[in-house]
Amino acid sequence: MKKIYIFCALLIGLVVIIAGCSFGAAPTTESKPEAKAPVQEKVATAVPKGIPVLMYHKIGPDKDNDAVLREDLFLAQMKFLKDNGFHPITMEQLYDYVTSGKAVPVKPVVLTFDDGYADTYSVVYPALKKYGFAATVYVNPGDVGQRLTWEQIKEMKDGGVTIASHGYDHVRMNELSAEAKKDNIVKAQQALKDKLDIDNVWFCYPYGRVDAQAETAAKEAGIRLAVTMNPGWVHQGDNPLTLHRIWIGNAVDLEHFEERITTEQYTDL
Ligand SMILES: [Zn+2]
Repeated sequence: MKKIYIFCALLIGLVVIIAGCSFGAAPTTESKPEAKAPVQEKVATAVPKGIPVLMYHKIGPDKDNDAVLREDLFLAQMKFLKDNGFHPITMEQLYDYVTSGKAVPVKPVVLTFDDGYADTYSVVYPALKKYGFAATVYVNPGDVGQRLTWEQIKEMKDGGVTIASHGYDHVRMNELSAEAKKDNIVKAQQALKDKLDIDNVWFCYPYGRVDAQAETAAKEAGIRLAVTMNPGWVHQGDNPLTLHRIWIGNAVDLEHFEERITTEQYTDL
């Protein structure tokens, strides 16, 4: 008899819990639509002939600097991508495409930001969030604190931005000894692990300077994909440790921007 009472009590308890859950959940979902997980957009995928990997540096008002892009131009480019159905993809997706020919969302682009400038947090990150774009930020752990802080980098990481290595120090690695090349990569790997708990596998050679020793050092430090500053699109079968990128600066107006992300034979500016 006692067993039946206990069983009934448990059953009633269970019913109350289930009812509580469903009653509790319904109004939350309706009253706070902004808290809902983003609806996964159904995007067609394909294996493209090539993928443009865009290279950004500082976003700001600096004149006389080739690598800087005005904020209004940058924001117009992000809006252009959204309005025209382009899909910024992750480093992981790029890696899978390059090494195994895996399909990616149609009209793919890759957004990369070098050097960890303060505006990567204040200008770029809000735009990425607004459009739900994937992007990779290459930081030099030895410089953190002068531009971005670890807190800002962590916030971007937690917000879905891929944080990757640009070497511990921003040095021309082709001018270093083999040992120093290795150190510059390994120290950065360690810092990303210590500060952000990242097992990093993505690299960007500072100043785009790569040689066979730097490539080997990257590989031995666990890097799976690394980018240079050599111009051009990325293709399936390319060496994943010396990928090309497309320069974006003030000379790249919207017309040239469209050209750079739609044809490999884009105008040299
Ligand atoms: Zn750099």
